[in-house]
Amino acid sequence: MATYIVFLGAPGVGKGTQAERLAEELKIPHISTGDLFRENLKNQTELGKKAQYYMDAGQLVPDDVTIEMVKSRISRPDCVNGAILDGFPRTSAQAEAFDQMLKEAYQTEVDFVPCIQVDRELLIDRLSGRRMCPNGHVFHMVYHPPKEDDICDICGQKLYQREDDKAETIEKRLEVYENQTAPLIDYYQKRNVLRFIDGAKDIDAVTMDILAAFKDVTKK
Ligand code: AMP
Repeated sequence: MATYIVFLGAPGVGKGTQAERLAEELKIPHISTGDLFRENLKNQTELGKKAQYYMDAGQLVPDDVTIEMVKSRISRPDCVNGAILDGFPRTSAQAEAFDQMLKEAYQTEVDFVPCIQVDRELLIDRLSGRRMCPNGHVFHMVYHPPKEDDICDICGQKLYQREDDKAETIEKRLEVYENQTAPLIDYYQKRNVLRFIDGAKDIDAVTMDILAAFKDVTKK
């Protein structure tokens, strides 16, 4: 049976890491809108150029641009058995558009929404210590340091700090989350598909909690 999953949670809660693990477990694609935008930015596409200003400022890219991008991704054949969305939807308009997309393309609905929660202080700590390589591998200066300073363990490329992981922008992103994305908790709770997950535990424990919640929500 096809399974469509939406990860909710503030920036820095570990959505990306957990979404990737779940995608591997369920053998369905992991779609991160942040990664899609960064990929477009790296390749200097029209979409990337449009998104850059908003991303650097820690603001949301306009709904119409974001929705179009997800629509074309979700309608690709590899999503026919399901997909894991990470970083989308982030507004009510996006959530409604996503419902519409799933209905039109696959005659189905969102099956499961893990909502990862972490204290604000820990979030700031996680975001400000985060480093990435140009291929998207993620490290943390304290919690997951690279073997060699500033070099990716996996591909040997130089690590950098995302522009929007700098202190001034982090505050803005957390504010945007509270105002625009947190209301989606209610949206999915009403349908009984949302479960809260404690994101302060270690990575493996969080994965286990998500899998247990997934089984619980999708059991017939
Ligand atoms: P992320 O890697 O998920 O933190 O996303 C990085 C940035 O990409 C965000 O701060 C936004 O500027 C943009 N972005 C990612 N996903 C969305 C979305 N669903 N709606 C609007 N902007 C987004």
